[in-house]
Amino acid sequence: MRYEFLRKPRKCPACASIRIADIMYGYPIFSEELDEVLKTGKVILGGCCISRDDPKWECFDCHVSIYKKTKSKLAEFPDFTLKSP
Ligand SMILES: [Zn+2]
Repeated sequence: MRYEFLRKPRKCPACASIRIADIMYGYPIFSEELDEVLKTGKVILGGCCISRDDPKWECFDCHVSIYKKTKSKLAEFPDFTLKSP
């Protein structure tokens, strides 16, 4: 089962937990602030390997992956269209 949402869901679609974490990709700069955020379970680290189809969120309790529903690649990167040359 693949879960897709346009926006971050308030509850986990699988276990109804309200602890949905943002998945942060890449190598973050470790700091006390990041440490605190990771402890709360609001953010988890997705690692450095980014594919074209990575989940955006993950349930902190049952670890189900939640994908962001996108209509096109442009919708995924809205900033792209806003930048003027
Ligand atoms: Zn869950």
